Amino acid sequence: MKYISTRKKEETNIKTAILKGLADDGGLFMPEYIPQLEAEFLENLPNLSLQEIGFKVAKEFLGESIPNDNLKEIIDEVLNFEIPAVKISGNIYSLELFHGPTMAFKDVGARFMARMMAYFSEGKPMKVIAATSGDTGSAVASGFFNVTGIEVYILYPKGKVSPLQEKQLTTWGGNIKALEIDGTFDDCQALAKQILSDEELNQKFTLTSANSINIARLIPQSFYYFWTFSQLQKLGKPIVFSVPSGNFGNLTAGLFAKKMGLPIHQFIASTNANDVVPNYLETGNYEAKPSKQTISNAMDVGNPSNFERMKSLFNDDVSEFKKEIESYSFSDEETKQTMIKVKNDFNYTLDPHGAVAYLGLEKYSEKSDEDFVGVLLETAHPAKFVEVVEEVLKEKIEIPEKLEAFNKKEKQSVEFPTDFELVKSYLLEEHQ
Ligand SMILES: *Cc1c(COP(=O)(O)O)cnc(C)c1O
Repeated sequence: MKYISTRKKEETNIKTAILKGLADDGGLFMPEYIPQLEAEFLENLPNLSLQEIGFKVAKEFLGESIPNDNLKEIIDEVLNFEIPAVKISGNIYSLELFHGPTMAFKDVGARFMARMMAYFSEGKPMKVIAATSGDTGSAVASGFFNVTGIEVYILYPKGKVSPLQEKQLTTWGGNIKALEIDGTFDDCQALAKQILSDEELNQKFTLTSANSINIARLIPQSFYYFWTFSQLQKLGKPIVFSVPSGNFGNLTAGLFAKKMGLPIHQFIASTNANDVVPNYLETGNYEAKPSKQTISNAMDVGNPSNFERMKSLFNDDVSEFKKEIESYSFSDEETKQTMIKVKNDFNYTLDPHGAVAYLGLEKYSEKSDEDFVGVLLETAHPAKFVEVVEEVLKEKIEIPEKLEAFNKKEKQSVEFPTDFELVKSYLLEEHQ
């Protein structure tokens, strides 16, 4: 299988696509075609484990680039936590993606990517650059922590992540460095892109990206769409996924799963006030905007990086987009009201991102008279957003031990203004 840049000027294999992250032409790598799974595999899903599904799906994208035994070992390590589809009420389920080490869905992608990079880099030293609006950084840090030969630089917007998120970014030490940028997430993302495309830095170091632009983050995110069918196919109804979206990596992975043959009935791309994609579907015009701060801050993205991948899947045709995806934007106020309602009515605690996804299902069911099973992707444990959740629900929530451990550690970060040259000289001087 070849991997081709969305800007069509570069073609390579999976190893290079993963090690580079971003193509030289500035595009994102996509598989040359989406592999098709046999009907037999799809029918047999209820009899397979999450790890068996992961192996089969990953193998389709990776081919012979990694021996089966190594891939099996990686998959078993990556997927060593549960991903249950938990019933909230009636036909509404929460796919709890937050049972990994940092309690956010990004653990799945980051753990897989870290292990694939370690495998393909064959022990050669490498610098991984990751911009984060909150959860990516900690999942990436956790995935790469203590991996020999790999140094990780995490750029995060000062004052714009939650206190616990900040602890999860800045308390690792060792091969993980936290760069605290006086700017927005978009500034961090722009700096990361500049670093990755800087000629001098690329001559000195092997640089790579760990953002959702890396194809190794997307591949494993498609596993749990199949896994949902394994759990819920028995209900015998069409399955609708509502995906709380920021950079649209999670949703793009779902689109992969559907193109591979999984009979997903409908996708709902649920966003907060950062509404470029819902606007695009409505008007046909894609207009990037500066990001707005919301209570679902891991989705505060004004120019979603995976839009380019979706565009290539849909041949840049908005009507093709509309066939697969409904997209709605919700305010913080609606998000809060939903958290309260779902807690009161069904005794289920949603985090703000999951609440946005819940709203998406509600809105879709108002418009549709079908009898469907709605699955919201619950992308973070509510305790990751403890300040917001406690304020909204007006009650204390329990902090799991896994998260409490971060709170007890000391923050270590290096501060920068939004200035590429300063960040560059730091990388050049301090870390040869
Ligand atoms: C990153 C993140 C999202 C958005 O996922 P994308 O793949 O960027 O669309 C949603 N919720 C949480 C908790 C996240 O960390």
